[in-house]
Amino acid sequence: PQPSVDVCHAAYMPAAPHGVVPRAPLLLSCVVPAYNEQENLEGFLRALIPAVQALTPHFEVIVVNDGSSDATHDVAMRLVNEMPVRYLALSRNYGKEAALSAGIDHARGNAVLLIDADFQHPLELLPEMHDLWLHGYEMVYGVIADRGAESGAKRLGTELFYKLMNSGSSVKVPPNAGDFRWMDRKVVDALKALPERNRFMKGLYAWVGFKTAALPFVPKDRAAGASSFNLRRLGALALLGLTSFTTLPLRVWSVIGGLVASIALAYGAWITIDTFLFGADLDGWPTLAAGIMLFSGVQLMSIGILGEYIGRIYDEVKCRPTYLVARDEDHSPLRDQA
Ligand code: UDP
Ligand code: MG
Repeated sequence: PQPSVDVCHAAYMPAAPHGVVPRAPLLLSCVVPAYNEQENLEGFLRALIPAVQALTPHFEVIVVNDGSSDATHDVAMRLVNEMPVRYLALSRNYGKEAALSAGIDHARGNAVLLIDADFQHPLELLPEMHDLWLHGYEMVYGVIADRGAESGAKRLGTELFYKLMNSGSSVKVPPNAGDFRWMDRKVVDALKALPERNRFMKGLYAWVGFKTAALPFVPKDRAAGASSFNLRRLGALALLGLTSFTTLPLRVWSVIGGLVASIALAYGAWITIDTFLFGADLDGWPTLAAGIMLFSGVQLMSIGILGEYIGRIYDEVKCRPTYLVARDEDHSPLRDQA
């Protein structure tokens, strides 16, 4: 069994305490999810490939086109003839989590690198990731050290999300750790073995554990195009994370219900005493109306939260695949390795 390090505490202590561990020669699979990246894709691959070649001659790049509506497909189809690229086109836009799953499922290397196509993840970090892998770390991830460029609302929301997430879940998701990561084959196989369809990757990485190191980095500005994650999509992602890794939203209602019931009980007792002992007149209909409205609101909200979980259960039992591959141009140099 593998030693597992608490990922939260592994953060910011990436110094390798051991010597180089014996590993088979590096065969690196780089997974690049791309959704509407027509302007970035070619330039990015032309930057990525030399950076990877500096580490190993044995590598493949897996471009996952997540149902782009721009010319990403045409760009990728042209590039597969020029570069050691495997091109997977998903049948529609399934979202980044599914695109990453598709790349991971098709990777053949003994290590897998997940990296965005928009130049936000610095290629300069690859040698360090490689080095940590050689020193026995099974997963190395980038942690966003500075969110200075993001809006106040986004930063506040992110902070609140990680607070909620980590107070309700036994698996601690390290804050600000994104999808920029290097994973050993062991981690990849562990991720692939997780059967769930609602794939909140940040939670899954933390759930599988393994020996993990964090590398702080400052994301660059997006080279071209715009981020696909607006507040609505980020909200949906946060809800997915919270409901697939915690039962906090369910438990909150037990607490609120308990509180409300105690208050109602005390108030009831007070009215009884007031009426019988002091002969007070009962004219409570505004109180009643307000009370009924408040509590029916609370009940509807809690039913909604239950529904959120039931919806997820429904999604899981349907057992639909996480994604469908519409096209697979396999020019991977690792084709014969697996
Ligand atoms: N992406 C994807 N599917 C989507 C949205 C995004 O594969 O539905 C890819 C996108 O092409 C990029 C990466 O995921 O390579 C990160 O997306 P983006 O830059 O929009 O997000 P942000 O960096 O703002 O979190
Ligand atoms: Mg980006």
